[in-house]
Amino acid sequence: MPPDASLILVLNSGSSSLKFAVQDTAQRTPLLSGLAERLGNTQSTINFKDAQGKRTEPLPGGDHAAALDAVLAELAGRSWLGALAAVGHRVVHGAERFTSSALITPTVIADIEACNELAPLHNPPALVGIRIALARLPDIPHVAVLDTAFHQTMAPEAYLYAVPMALYREHGVRRYGFHGTSHRFVALEAVAQLGLDSADHGLVTAHLGNGASATAVQDGRSVDTSMGLTPLEGLVMGTRSGDIDAGAVLHLMRTAGYDTVGMDALLNKQSGLLGLSELSNDCRELEAAAAAGHAGAKLALEVFAHRLARYIGGLAMSLRRLDAVVFTGGIGENSPLVRAMTVARLRPLGLVLDEAANERFIRGADGVITTAGSTPCAAVIATNEEWMIARDTAELAHRGPTPSKAH
Ligand code: AMP
Repeated sequence: MPPDASLILVLNSGSSSLKFAVQDTAQRTPLLSGLAERLGNTQSTINFKDAQGKRTEPLPGGDHAAALDAVLAELAGRSWLGALAAVGHRVVHGAERFTSSALITPTVIADIEACNELAPLHNPPALVGIRIALARLPDIPHVAVLDTAFHQTMAPEAYLYAVPMALYREHGVRRYGFHGTSHRFVALEAVAQLGLDSADHGLVTAHLGNGASATAVQDGRSVDTSMGLTPLEGLVMGTRSGDIDAGAVLHLMRTAGYDTVGMDALLNKQSGLLGLSELSNDCRELEAAAAAGHAGAKLALEVFAHRLARYIGGLAMSLRRLDAVVFTGGIGENSPLVRAMTVARLRPLGLVLDEAANERFIRGADGVITTAGSTPCAAVIATNEEWMIARDTAELAHRGPTPSKAH
């Protein structure tokens, strides 16, 4: 049973989904979590997961408001509503307006709204979630935790594209980076678990899920990252291409009839592991197919590992020193194969895989997967974005509003 007013509700509002978690910040595992899906559709459902198990309920025609009402009814049923201290909202894009998480005020909402153009698929639904939650829970603090904020410490040489500076000044065209909450969490964990100096360390963190990015973290600060203006840049992802010559994009638009809508779908939805394998965007499925001899699946995994290793090597050059490479996300935490293929390619950096350890650390088990003498080392650390959001939320809710606009 949670103690008085110690619970944080974490909300991640997508275009047709609402993901939630109820966290007691004193513990890493949420007390309750779940997902409302296909919102706005007759097929919409909501599921609730706790230590006792998982149950799914229909939410016919339910929108975000109906989903949040279902969550709040569940909390009321457990007599947890009175224990709710604050709400933490995941927001994808904060551009240069947010260098850290922020207590939500009308100014903060306007600032998030001002970033809508940079994340048209992500920020508007987050604002829908924020507005509904503010209306339903007006008496407790709400906090925005932004995916881009952690990367605001990058220097101009890391975040600028070599295009006319007017595009940066007038259109905000620069690299922002994403997955910041995950990179921040695993970097903090790596320092603790590997016994590193919190004021003197160098890490490359690789968040490998359906979306994938790698970040160079120097002394707790992001100094470089693989994603750019949008989450399309960088690594090979489930359905995103990652890096591609902009000239190839122009070539296809000139010669193959793609317009911006078609090109957007091509690069974001039809590329990556799916496009390469011509089979699936799902790493687990590709591993099974590759083992059964599927050439496309094997090739997709090879390109994924090659690109990743090349990025890790490149990002290491943004650091003073490389202490560790950290794998996280669905693939990073669960695929010994992808980790082995990647670490094998990192031999020039001095990494040597401990095969037994690599097989052992899966499904949330953290540990070092390189041999004892290997410097730098490689480690698997399970990410926990919900807990990180809850921790920021609890901290800001406790501290109260900051007088200046500096977020
Ligand atoms: P995420 O977006 O972090 O949930 O990660 C999703 C990705 O993790 C998908 O490509 C899954 O196939 C992959 N994944 C999850 N479990 C495994 C596993 N046991 N082996 C390989 N890939 C996995």
